[in-house]
Amino acid sequence: EAKEAGRNTFRFFNQKIHDDSVARMEMERQLRGALERGELEVHFQPLVSARDGQLVGAEALLRWTHPVLGRVPPDRFIPVAEQSDLIVSIGSWVLDEACAQAARWRKARNGAFIIAVNVSPRQFSSPGLVDTIRACVDKYAIPHGQLEIEVTEGLLIRNPGEVRDAMLALEAIGVTVALDDFGTGYSSLSYLRAFPFHTIKIDRSFIRDLSDDAEDCALVVAAIRMARALGLKVVAEGVETEMQSRFLTRQESDVLQGYLFGPPIAAKDFFVDWVQNRPGAELPA
Ligand code: C2E
Ligand code: MG
Ligand code: MG
Ligand code: MG
Repeated sequence: EAKEAGRNTFRFFNQKIHDDSVARMEMERQLRGALERGELEVHFQPLVSARDGQLVGAEALLRWTHPVLGRVPPDRFIPVAEQSDLIVSIGSWVLDEACAQAARWRKARNGAFIIAVNVSPRQFSSPGLVDTIRACVDKYAIPHGQLEIEVTEGLLIRNPGEVRDAMLALEAIGVTVALDDFGTGYSSLSYLRAFPFHTIKIDRSFIRDLSDDAEDCALVVAAIRMARALGLKVVAEGVETEMQSRFLTRQESDVLQGYLFGPPIAAKDFFVDWVQNRPGAELPA
């Protein structure tokens, strides 16, 4: 009987693996046509100055609405795109779309507007990355310091030399690089020294527990001080309460992002809610 149970468990386990890989392959197949079918959309979440709450820019966040599956969260489909070549074409499209909107909004505001775009490890390491970004900078005449590429620690492990060269090439054309989800990895400190980052984005898991977790408060304070000492800009993500916002401002974060200020929304809504009738803010240094 034990043998029988074991066999069933084994069968179930196998079935589960099978289902997962079938689901993944099916998702990849669906995602492959998503761009052409117009199912992808870039949403924008406001970045505000910690000093005065004024709009300084936006982070571009990809959305996929499948006709049958409905809204598929990026945490589910980005890894699938990342495991295939799809991330390169989708990523280039996001970059262009985001920069195009930012250029319109810069013009409408007659002022600076930072656009932050996530780039996954595979996309960042693809051969044409720097050329693609340079072409975008030229096409939309993006001023120095107003396009920020967000990468995660995972990128830095594989080909550190090439990654560093690419970051320097971006720096040379006025494109900055942010270390996203700061604090969730293992070696953030040494990475900050070894790579020419301009910004750190403190992961929202630290911000979330600021109210009742003294250790998270200490970590956030330490992260901000360290960034200050290294001359890095600090963005806090996932700011949901006034208390968190006040704390982060007091500790001298530069930029705040989170539901307290606004969720990611479609471009046309962002234009109405944020770009129109809001004066341009001073950019943080
Ligand atoms: P991320 O780059 O760290 O983006 C921040 C995430 O936090 C977004 O989730 C955003 O909607 C969410 N967020 C912002 N403020 C708050 C808040 O106050 N509370 C909470 N609970 N969440 C907040 P989203 O849009 O689901 O994206 C998840 C991740 O997917 C992103 O994390 C990024 O790693 C990836 N991603 C999204 N778009 C792209 C893209 O175009 N390219 C690549 N490579 N990755 C992307
Ligand atoms: Mg990001
Ligand atoms: Mg993040
Ligand atoms: Mg994340």
